[in-house]
Amino acid sequence: MRVVICGGGVIGACTAWFLRRRGIDVIVVERTEVAAAASGKAGGFLAGDWCAGTPLDALARRSFALHAQLPEQIAGDWGYRAMSAYSGFVAADSDPRRDSPSALGWLSDGVIIAQRIGTPKTTSIVHPGKFTSATMNGALALGAELRLGRVTGIVRDADEIAAKGVEVEGSVIEADAVVIAMGPWSLLAAQWMSLPAVYGQRSPSIVYDTGADVPADALFLEHEDGGSAVSIEVFPRADGSTHITALSDIASLPLDPAAVTPDQDAIARLQAMSERLSPLFRPEKIIARQACFRPVTQDGLPLIGKVPQSEGLYVATGHNVWGILNAPATGEALAQLIAEGTTQIDLSPFDPARLSPLDPSLLQAR
Ligand SMILES: Cc1cc2nc3c(=O)[nH]c(=O)nc-3n(C[C@H](O)[C@H](O)[C@H](O)COP(=O)(O)OP(=O)(O)OC[C@H]3O[C@@H](n4cnc5c(N)ncnc54)[C@H](O)[C@@H]3O)c2cc1C
Repeated sequence: MRVVICGGGVIGACTAWFLRRRGIDVIVVERTEVAAAASGKAGGFLAGDWCAGTPLDALARRSFALHAQLPEQIAGDWGYRAMSAYSGFVAADSDPRRDSPSALGWLSDGVIIAQRIGTPKTTSIVHPGKFTSATMNGALALGAELRLGRVTGIVRDADEIAAKGVEVEGSVIEADAVVIAMGPWSLLAAQWMSLPAVYGQRSPSIVYDTGADVPADALFLEHEDGGSAVSIEVFPRADGSTHITALSDIASLPLDPAAVTPDQDAIARLQAMSERLSPLFRPEKIIARQACFRPVTQDGLPLIGKVPQSEGLYVATGHNVWGILNAPATGEALAQLIAEGTTQIDLSPFDPARLSPLDPSLLQAR
């Protein structure tokens, strides 16, 4: 059996690795480069129990456990480490606490830590780009193939039901099964099959070179910016980089993943907020000013499973803010579904058939 995976982000890489572990032939087709989009630019924060009480709970718990096991199973160093997480706020200029020393010594006065919301047992982190690349390299070492190219369509049998392969800019790669894992660009696949809409939600981020100066504590802080409260997230990683993000905005998704750029005003505001948090976030320590689009669905849950009204077509996207966390369990479940037709984790909350398919004529202008 041969499976073609469209998209070399974290979801495509994990799916490739779990399929290859079962000995299934895999070809990954990636338009730009592995981890070119959100999977290379995310924070990498992982939480085992923060989805409790939601349909994501079992997937997140399984994936959190897999993240802890994968460093022993895949070669490479992607900085997996357990960490604590804290919530708090930055005292406004009018707040008498603005001169109070922070409970965490590396933060500036007035950065008030309210509570510990994650412990090294419940929260951890990876470098997402390095994790994605190592997992893809692990799949390649097991015999998977990576081809650079843009998937432009699906080839079906004479009845127009069963997938027979994918079109890649004029050529055809034959396959017994096809997985759509193109992040927010999975939207384009609604031209080729019955799929609900997938949207892209843009977020800017800045990455600082902080070396060993910032301890392994993730921060979720409220910060006043121009009269409104903004949530800012700080993720120090094991390779000495600290990823800071805030200020999601609505922007149209460029057709080419390589053309994603941040809004310069948002970056300037994020930089000013970061400098207020700690003297360690100095301009000369910036190693990346970037943006990426999270794949989001209408009901906020991912699409994982068989594509309706077809045979041999699967989708795995729409993981929103938890794509790095939930990638291993998504890849594992898809490999089970493709190989055996059943899964350990109940995928029914993520069944693509739960949402109305997008009208393909809406995409024709793109
Ligand atoms: C600022 C930010 C911070 C985040 N932080 C976290 C976090 O801390 N923890 C967490 O769990 N999640 C986080 N996320 C979410 C996470 O990054 C995403 O959910 C995840 O990366 C999505 O992975 P993906 O593989 O579905 O998509 P992508 O990473 O978008 O990959 C899709 C791939 O498909 C390729 N592609 C597109 N079109 C085609 C085509 N026609 N043919 C072939 N290939 C194609 C693209 O080039 C791309 O490489 C964050 C996201 C953002 C934006």
